[in-house]
Amino acid sequence: MKPAPVKIQTSAGGVVYRLTPEGPEVALVAVKGGKVWTLPKGTVDKGEKIEQTALREVSEETGLKARLDNRLGEITYWYYLSEEKARCKKTVHFYLMRYLSGDTGGHDLEVDDAAWFPIGEALKAATYKGDREILEKAKEMLEKKRKGAVREGHGKNP
Ligand code: ATP
Repeated sequence: MKPAPVKIQTSAGGVVYRLTPEGPEVALVAVKGGKVWTLPKGTVDKGEKIEQTALREVSEETGLKARLDNRLGEITYWYYLSEEKARCKKTVHFYLMRYLSGDTGGHDLEVDDAAWFPIGEALKAATYKGDREILEKAKEMLEKKRKGAVREGHGKNP
């Protein structure tokens, strides 16, 4: 029997954050009837830059407008596309994004829900290991930014 063909897919998404007095919160979306919490992401359209895809998908799936902060890296996973009888290798590029405006109630119908989580809770809620790895990177980066901001503050106001 011939092995199933392999299809390569590229998606992009983001960890949108907002700072609260209790610490950073990040947005996750619920899919599969609300059972799976995951990072917002979607397929890179023809002619679209990866960063544009990330911002567009985050905005559509969460209802939130954000701006790009830093690249967080990518994850790769395999799944089976039954309609095409193909194995799919998907790479998803993620960015840290600062929240600008909007409400999670404005999420589209591609997802069942969208919500803010304190970053520690998001790490517990996220279903997929790859998402948890990206959230860990986001947490470290936010911590570094916070420390950087403290140093800058000290420099200006000794
Ligand atoms: P996209 O949002 O990129 O357009 P999609 O909604 O068509 O993609 P995926 O979300 O990639 O498809 O889901 C395809 C399969 O991969 C599903 O079975 C899903 O459970 C699984 N999957 C989704 N995200 C991950 C992940 N981060 N790690 C492992 N498996 C995942």
